[in-house]
Amino acid sequence: MSCNFELGHYRDLLRAAVEGGYRFTFFEEEPQPHALYLRHDVDLSLDAAIQMAEIEIEEGARATYFLMTQSVFYNLHSPEGLRAQNRLRELGHRVGLHAVWPGAELDDRFDPVVAWHNPDSDYMSDPLPGAVNVMEPPWFDPDQYRSDSNQRWRNGCPHEELRSGTFEWLQLLVHPEIWVYPGNSMRETMLTLLDAERDRRLELLADDRIDLS
Ligand SMILES: [Zn+2]
Ligand SMILES: [Zn+2]
Repeated sequence: MSCNFELGHYRDLLRAAVEGGYRFTFFEEEPQPHALYLRHDVDLSLDAAIQMAEIEIEEGARATYFLMTQSVFYNLHSPEGLRAQNRLRELGHRVGLHAVWPGAELDDRFDPVVAWHNPDSDYMSDPLPGAVNVMEPPWFDPDQYRSDSNQRWRNGCPHEELRSGTFEWLQLLVHPEIWVYPGNSMRETMLTLLDAERDRRLELLADDRIDLS
């Protein structure tokens, strides 16, 4: 099995987790043996988030999607943003806030759970009033945590450990863009994402009655 960052291998990861006896759960529950918190920080693309969300449902998985209200890449108030939030809810996933420090303003679009975007270590794990911070104990434990940040698993791809049930429980941070857009490095993947964005924006321009003839 080749450990690439493609949706096919993402499915492998989900199936390995099921085989290993893990149970998909949400941050409203404290870690139990074999709990698997699938966490998605949506940094760049709502399209990618929705594609991943649909695949998870096909595989019987549930995840928490952390959406930004201060993103320079997408707008939750746009029709596309509203559609994405509705679709995630419809599919049965949770929606948390991917906040930019220090503003963690939760409103009724969000479950009471926050993941900081690119946090500094001095506030990363601080508890928050009225909400779970995903990087505070007991939800964060370095031994029960894996992240695909910048298309690199710091401790290796977890598929084998999931299959064998090695983790007591796991918080798995997966960035949808990395898996939805092909590329052998983060740079290549980002260039593929930008090509797709260009096409998407051309459609948006046409919808906005811009003459592209
Ligand atoms: Zn793998
Ligand atoms: Zn982020």
